[in-house]
Amino acid sequence: MQLERYFSIECAVLTNSWTNGALATLLALGIGPGDEIIVPAITFIATSNVVELLGAKPVFVDVDPETLLITPKAVRAALTPSTKAVFIVHLFGQMADTAGIAASLSDRPDIHLLEDAAHCFEGTRNGERPGKHSKAAFFSFYATKNITCGEGGAVITRDLALMDKVRQTILHGMSVGAADRFKQGAYQHWDMLRLGVKANLPDLLAALLPSQIDAVETVRWRRAELAEKYTAAFVQTPLRLVRIEPGVVHAHHLFPIHVPPAVRDTALQRLNTAGIGTTVNYRAVPTLTYYREKYGYVPEDHPVSQNWGEGAISLPLFPGMSGEEQNYVIEKVMQEVVPLCS
Ligand SMILES: *Cc1c(COP(=O)(O)O)cnc(C)c1O
Repeated sequence: MQLERYFSIECAVLTNSWTNGALATLLALGIGPGDEIIVPAITFIATSNVVELLGAKPVFVDVDPETLLITPKAVRAALTPSTKAVFIVHLFGQMADTAGIAASLSDRPDIHLLEDAAHCFEGTRNGERPGKHSKAAFFSFYATKNITCGEGGAVITRDLALMDKVRQTILHGMSVGAADRFKQGAYQHWDMLRLGVKANLPDLLAALLPSQIDAVETVRWRRAELAEKYTAAFVQTPLRLVRIEPGVVHAHHLFPIHVPPAVRDTALQRLNTAGIGTTVNYRAVPTLTYYREKYGYVPEDHPVSQNWGEGAISLPLFPGMSGEEQNYVIEKVMQEVVPLCS
């Protein structure tokens, strides 16, 4: 299959979302109450929600102040005997140091490394794609992502035994899928071998993916061009940009800038007034009401993530963006946002 070739990996399975693919995989891995899963504090809520849904505990760690990625050091500091997995998030399209985190956990073979690659289908680090050093990597083909079929996702893994289980947990835990039940001609009974969810991707949606995967490198070039132009325009201003590490080929899913938290909402408002669509990726997850109230997190627990979340603004970046459109965004950021920052 195309995904297996693209990622040079043994197994890939399509799912109806990142969330359901991750949920099915955590179920297959037996994650449940009493287990701790390490999650970076800057990510989309789905990363920690799948952990919560299974009754396990997301242990949020702060991110690197320049790359905003989870680091080997932060992971080590959060380890306990109950740690069962680490969620590595390739934030904004930049791959985190999965190899480094794997090496730093060589004394804990009981811990599963999981990659949230929702932002990073086409990115690489030191020439390696997601899936190389982890138990499993998860992708999203949701409407906003670089490759999309409206709603969808994929799980990839090198572990054939795990993939057999995931094929069941994405279909209620059934031993044989409906289409395979008549394979031997007559009806075959199915059994339920484990608890599952409904996470398979309809063929109708899957059909939208192959041509996008074929074109992904061309589209990545256009995204990189747009990102480089933003960077060149803002590098001498007080706007804070995310550092890209050497050896990284960035998927540029998002282009965030950071302003002093006191002026962020004013900046958002001014850009909106100028007709520029912006988003915030992301406010620190442990500061959101559900997690704050359940676990009692305070801002001092994840200062880098907290500060990022209070000052972040994502600028428009999409392959069809014209030079004229980007010039307009740059001009408005210079006029309306930069003066707020000094
Ligand atoms: C979009 C996204 C998800 C969830 O993807 P769905 O396919 O909508 O479930 C998870 N993690 C990150 C970082 C995302 O951006």
